Amino acid sequence: MSNKTKKAIVTGGTRGIGRAIVKELASRNCCDVLFSDVAFIYNSCDECAKELIEEIKHPEIKIFGFKADVSSLEQAQATVNAAIEKLGGVDILINNAGITRDNLLLRMNEKDFDDVISANLKSVFNYTKAVLKPMIAQRYGRIVNISSVVALIGNAGQSNYAASKAGVIGFTKSMARELASRNITVNAVAPGFIQTDMTNKLSDEQKAKLTQNIPLGRLGTPEDIAKVVAFLCSDQANYITGQVISVDGGMTM
Ligand code: NAP
Repeated sequence: MSNKTKKAIVTGGTRGIGRAIVKELASRNCCDVLFSDVAFIYNSCDECAKELIEEIKHPEIKIFGFKADVSSLEQAQATVNAAIEKLGGVDILINNAGITRDNLLLRMNEKDFDDVISANLKSVFNYTKAVLKPMIAQRYGRIVNISSVVALIGNAGQSNYAASKAGVIGFTKSMARELASRNITVNAVAPGFIQTDMTNKLSDEQKAKLTQNIPLGRLGTPEDIAKVVAFLCSDQANYITGQVISVDGGMTM
């Protein structure tokens, strides 16, 4: 793949970790190629999408934003088809979009459970299924799914979220086995607590308490995650598949 342009699709690309991944993939000399063309998916924030496209704008880089709900298989297929048409193919899929609807189980309603499973787990099925045929046909693909530290150790008040993210790990390993013979690698990254809108909901007191359990003594940045995702998409990682890489400041060692 070296010196060619790679073509990437990133879900949840407008904010937080996804935004950092889009910027990393589109930056020059990332993933053993001069740059990657990127299509990102978002749900609601049109302004964030416009800003991101403006920020990345470069004569050599194709960058597109698509508004779609990742929970819908129909929308995923339509979006992936449109993205492939604009990009001229797909080499990389990053399943990053995700939400939280936290509550103790006694107070959690059915919708909060279903919404989180749909946005965090079914979305991974939707987008993986949608890119599979072109990746198999070209005998090349790099898929990275964003799980969470919570999938590995659980978290009170996040049973829906933890279940969805643990599901992502099972799905990742199964796909890695199904697709290895086609030169498609499938890995997961399990971030610890990362500074994004998702964790900005926490009080300073909660963040200070969390930090006590992080050996490296700080919350992570979206860029900490994006660098590892880019590595997994690079030729340096050609022999890595079915793995869950914790990027959590040592929380789960
Ligand atoms: P974030 O700042 O809340 O951003 C979420 C992104 O996903 C946004 O771009 C959002 O688009 C998009 N999105 C959400 N629901 C969507 C849907 N139904 N359809 C399409 N796009 C949707 O989240 P983040 O903190 O960067 O988290 C990114 C991923 O990392 C998630 O899977 C999360 O579970 C995981 N993670 C985060 C942390 C953390 O500490 N932050 C830790 C472990 C794992 P709009 O803005 O348009 O709604």
